[in-house]
Formats: sequence, structure tokens, C-alpha cells
Amino acid sequence: MNNPIAPKAGFDWNRVCWSRPDSLPPRLCSYCSAGIPETTVPLILTSEQGFTARFCDDCMEKWWGMSTYPDPPEFGDF
Ligand SMILES: [Zn+2]
Repeated sequence: MNNPIAPKAGFDWNRVCWSRPDSLPPRLCSYCSAGIPETTVPLILTSEQGFTARFCDDCMEKWWGMSTYPDPPEFGDF
């Protein structure tokens, strides 16, 4: 395994629900199954086999130590 980034201690890889490379990934967190809003840019991991997993804001912050950004302004209101 040669991941550029590693999750924090306690992360359970067995809980990660990988999406097949030939299927459209659902907009659900692959770890906690929370819905990921359209406005959120999820963290997406790709396995060596091409499977993908995505993480919601909470998991990004909790497991990957990534701080999330506040919602961008709504475009189109101007
Ligand atoms: Zn999550």
C-alpha cells in the first residue's frame, strides 16, 4: 500500500463502501452513508483497481483531518 494520504487512527477500511469503476458513484459518503450535498466537493479516493470511495465533510474532517470550507456564495443571485 502506498497511499499519499493516510487516515487517522481508528479508521476502519472495512467500513469503506467502494464503488465499482463502471458504475456511477452515489452521492453518499462511502464511510457513514451520509448524503453529500451538491455544493460539497467530497474527498474521493481511488483504489489501485479503479474503485472509488468518497467522503462527506464530517468524515473528511474526522478521519482525514481536512478542514472544510464554508459554503460558497450562491451564484446566480447577482
Ligand atoms: Zn461520512
